[in-house]
Amino acid sequence: MICRKCNSPGTLIIRKEYCYCDECFIFMINHKFRACLGKNKTLSANEKILICLSGDACSTVLLDLVYNAISLNNHKKLRVVPYVLYIIETVADNEKISNSIIEQCKSYGFPLTITNINEYNKNFFSNKEETESQNSYNSKSILSNVTSSIHRDVMMKIKQNIFLKISKELDCNTVFTAETTTSLATKLLSNIVIGRGSQIENDIGFADKRDRDTRILRPLRDITNEEIEHYIQIKEIKPAKAMHNKLNETSLQSVIKNFVMDLQENYPATISTICKTADKIGSITNNINKKKCVVCQSNLDNNDLNLTAVDATVFSRKVSLRQSGESKYNEDSQNIEENNLMFPFIYQSLCYCCSRNMSELGNNKIKQ
Ligand SMILES: [Zn+2]
Ligand SMILES: [Zn+2]
Repeated sequence: MICRKCNSPGTLIIRKEYCYCDECFIFMINHKFRACLGKNKTLSANEKILICLSGDACSTVLLDLVYNAISLNNHKKLRVVPYVLYIIETVADNEKISNSIIEQCKSYGFPLTITNINEYNKNFFSNKEETESQNSYNSKSILSNVTSSIHRDVMMKIKQNIFLKISKELDCNTVFTAETTTSLATKLLSNIVIGRGSQIENDIGFADKRDRDTRILRPLRDITNEEIEHYIQIKEIKPAKAMHNKLNETSLQSVIKNFVMDLQENYPATISTICKTADKIGSITNNINKKKCVVCQSNLDNNDLNLTAVDATVFSRKVSLRQSGESKYNEDSQNIEENNLMFPFIYQSLCYCCSRNMSELGNNKIKQ
């Protein structure tokens, strides 16, 4: 066991292959982070950035990497002004977690904003029953009847909208999220399965540029969860939340996550290959003057003349709902762009996946 950089005794092995000592490993991860931001050359000097912290190992490491990079005294110094956002999502995100996050931010000297996701649900959902009680906007009750796959997807979109909203309030034009190679590989495969295949470029790439004013950047995209785990061990960082590698729930996303975690363990090189595939899937459409989905800001330009899977689903539903004795179905009356039960507002104000989420949400509609 010899460190591949300095030939002193190694302490850890990455991807079952590469041996490092503690010092060279920490240096390598900091370099990867800095290089990812450097090669994309998107930050201007003294730019305000909003770091979205979930309290898990990845986002805690992101804080540490930003701190190290702005503390440098050479030409590699990262010239940004960091702000931190923490969103309280569940009752389990109790005081203990919040306090540990407050302590972490205090020790780095980063200003912290804490907000509760339930406050934003009111802006996101309109409840048909118009009950104004706080409880009716609790994400748990709103999403209680939908499948866990849709639950996860809707929660992710709500959080993304909160990132953008708070960044505007704080006058930050750039948001940092802590997605790693491992989590992006999971997201890429999940996107394809749940019907967000056309959104891969913005959902998995280095930069999400769907919002006109604010970019979401993913500076950990070249770092794997395996490396994150070594980093927190060596630096004795205590994340507020434990990293759950394998999930027991039954959503599509968690099945895919378990699959990716198995890959990471047994075929470690494949994870980064999955992510590199995403870089090759670019869209040829430009973002200017395109109609956008009101929930996820993706372009709504899929509605060309070719028949799509959505048309096929709507058609078969129409046929199967036909009353006996009805001589012919009114083909003109139900155009796909009209609001139909199965895909409400599809291509008008919602993309395929957000439209399907909406039909599953029942009384709690996504606001238009
Ligand atoms: Zn070394
Ligand atoms: Zn959408």
